[in-house]
Amino acid sequence: MTDPETYAFSADINQLLSLIINTFYSNKDIFLRELISNGSDALDKIRYEALTDASKLDTDPNLRLEIVCDKENGTISIRDSGIGMTKTDLVNNLGTIAKSGTKSFMEAVSAGADMSMIGQFGVGFYSAYLVAEQVTVISKHNDDEQHRWESSAGGSFTVVKDESEALGRGTKIVLKLKEDMLEYLEESKVKGLVKKHNEFVSYPVNLWVEKTEEKEVTDDEEEVEEEVEEVVKEVVDGVVEEVSDEGKEEVSDDDDAPVVEDVTDETGENAPVKKTKKVKEVSYLWEKLNNMKPLWTRKPEDVTFEEYSEFYKGLSNDWEEHAAVKHFAVEGQLEFKSVLFVPKRAPFDLFQGGGEGKKKMNGIKLYVRRVFITDESADLMPEWLQFVKGVVDSEDLPLNISREMLQQNKILRVIRKNLVKKSLEMFQELSEDKEKYVKFYEAFSKNLKLGIHEDSTNRTKIAKLLRYQSSTSGENMVSLEEYIERMKEGQSSIYYITGESKKVVETSPFVERLTKKGYEVLYMVDPIDEYAVQQLKEYDDKKLVCITKEGLDLGDDTAEKEAFEKEKTLHEPLCKVMKEVLGEAVTKVVVSNRLVDSPCVLVTGEYGWSANMERIMKAQALRDTQMGGHMAGQKTMEINYLHPIVKAMREKVEADATDRTVKDLIWLMYDTSLLTSGFSLDQPTVFASRIHRLIHLGLGLEEEEEEDEVDDLPPLEEEDDFSPVEEEESTMEEVD
Ligand code: ADP
Repeated sequence: MTDPETYAFSADINQLLSLIINTFYSNKDIFLRELISNGSDALDKIRYEALTDASKLDTDPNLRLEIVCDKENGTISIRDSGIGMTKTDLVNNLGTIAKSGTKSFMEAVSAGADMSMIGQFGVGFYSAYLVAEQVTVISKHNDDEQHRWESSAGGSFTVVKDESEALGRGTKIVLKLKEDMLEYLEESKVKGLVKKHNEFVSYPVNLWVEKTEEKEVTDDEEEVEEEVEEVVKEVVDGVVEEVSDEGKEEVSDDDDAPVVEDVTDETGENAPVKKTKKVKEVSYLWEKLNNMKPLWTRKPEDVTFEEYSEFYKGLSNDWEEHAAVKHFAVEGQLEFKSVLFVPKRAPFDLFQGGGEGKKKMNGIKLYVRRVFITDESADLMPEWLQFVKGVVDSEDLPLNISREMLQQNKILRVIRKNLVKKSLEMFQELSEDKEKYVKFYEAFSKNLKLGIHEDSTNRTKIAKLLRYQSSTSGENMVSLEEYIERMKEGQSSIYYITGESKKVVETSPFVERLTKKGYEVLYMVDPIDEYAVQQLKEYDDKKLVCITKEGLDLGDDTAEKEAFEKEKTLHEPLCKVMKEVLGEAVTKVVVSNRLVDSPCVLVTGEYGWSANMERIMKAQALRDTQMGGHMAGQKTMEINYLHPIVKAMREKVEADATDRTVKDLIWLMYDTSLLTSGFSLDQPTVFASRIHRLIHLGLGLEEEEEEDEVDDLPPLEEEDDFSPVEEEESTMEEVD
């Protein structure tokens, strides 16, 4: 006999355990689903290994799950004949190596998430402690001897070589139930739970049940007693065998012998006098609780919503039902059946998957002629569709296909193409229910936009699914189709603005003139919009035009155009002076026809980064030092000839182009338009010092004080002199 070795739980798991044990949480039922699902995964693993080496099953060819409720000892045990765990597996998987999901799950729970999400975070095993005060895991892997893991939480667990009943292969988890959890020993309770949550497990889930049969026999005491003896004998031997041919029943090592009861004469005095006795025969047998017929092999019209939702929950570890389902079969050159689901929410680690050595995120289980092959094939679905859950069952792939071979497989490529197509159909169907679609879009719009960016073949179809808020939509979202439907006569482009938030873009000076002219402007306020729209470029032959970029054609009529040309000439000297002052900060200064209330804006080149893109890239450069700075887009300053500030500036320049205040004012105009155009200030202190100067002027402070203050400030544009007070004051009035 070896001594048990004691191990400390990793800190994260320890925390998780106390959370599970101490949090008040009423839905404890989930533990069973989690443990059955672990057993089913373990069975999948051995079945997969056996595809290439059938002898691996020799240690126990019967793939199944078994549940036994032991009332006497207060335990419920769940056994599988799956792959099992070696000693190292027991130590690593159950306690010392915490998964990324451990912390995320605790965060989610403290943020109010439901405890039943546990399976999604990859720590489902520990849910056993919702109901058990002690958990024992006995496991036998083909490559190791049988070991026993045991823990009552409390910081540590033990592992020891196990010499109890040999499992052959697989894992048996024994839960010593807490005193107030004894309801899980009730057959009906367990049956109900398995029916509800594990109906679609692809292996039999058998429950050890008590069967009581009443038999009416003629009053032949001896005969009865013989029968009783026979049953008892087999029980004592501990042999699990059939008792009789007809019943095909198995007997347990329980000593509940049949009970012989006197039968009262129910019909009273007038009943026939023939004396009979009723005999209660108690026997034990495995009762299969699940149906197992793969749901995808059934006809869609025969499957109820509840069945789909239970199947989905089993597949995804989700506790909520699905948002949409698509069940289809492909026939012809290639044959496969599939059921796809859209979850109601995004998983906690959406876009965190991938990574070296990590299991690739993929929600699709691949079967070949009803045999599970893998749920790790990254090639079944493109990255942007990784949130779709489901199964694919191929008739054509070879059964012994290895995961590596799958990568280059042509059949798989065709399957993938079809899965994408069907997913898009499923989203399209979902979009017909506006309310549902809003929720879907909130959860997965980033995926769709990633799809626009990456999937050139399906770009147009994905674009149909996009929704944006706009200058006329209020709180609603519009599709590109709706936008086009209500486009103004003569409007040839779809106008959009990108920015940090709806609040920022809706008050942007760029939107002014467009909305005034009656054009609708789409608000793209998700960073990924910048990337998506660069690929999308147009929809239904309408160009997507960014209104913060150069070359915005607002479809003005000839008279408007002529008037505008005149203004351009008139403002040429001002533009020239401004460019001279601003130097490299802008590529040019031009007169604009896109502004109404703002004096000026900064636009970027049609093919360069927008202000919003510059902001995103700056944020990324901060995060990722390797990027080494950012490549800011080229800026053009556009001035609004209708604005009083611009008018006054023009007059000032015309009167005296060398006027010293002009320079400062031009820089202020530049800085403020940086801000209103969605850029950030490169030198906020310089900007602040200019503003402070204006405040001084506004407050009529003494010049001396100003000089003191200014000395502390960073130098202003090569100008050491202070501008004369009176002149600036006159400008102040105009600013107001
Ligand atoms: P998950 O199953 O999501 O990975 P769990 O906390 O439920 O997370 O289980 C942790 C690990 O322990 C599993 O990944 C698996 O390697 C191992 N494991 C748990 N139950 C079994 C079992 N019945 N048979 C074999 N291995 C198991």
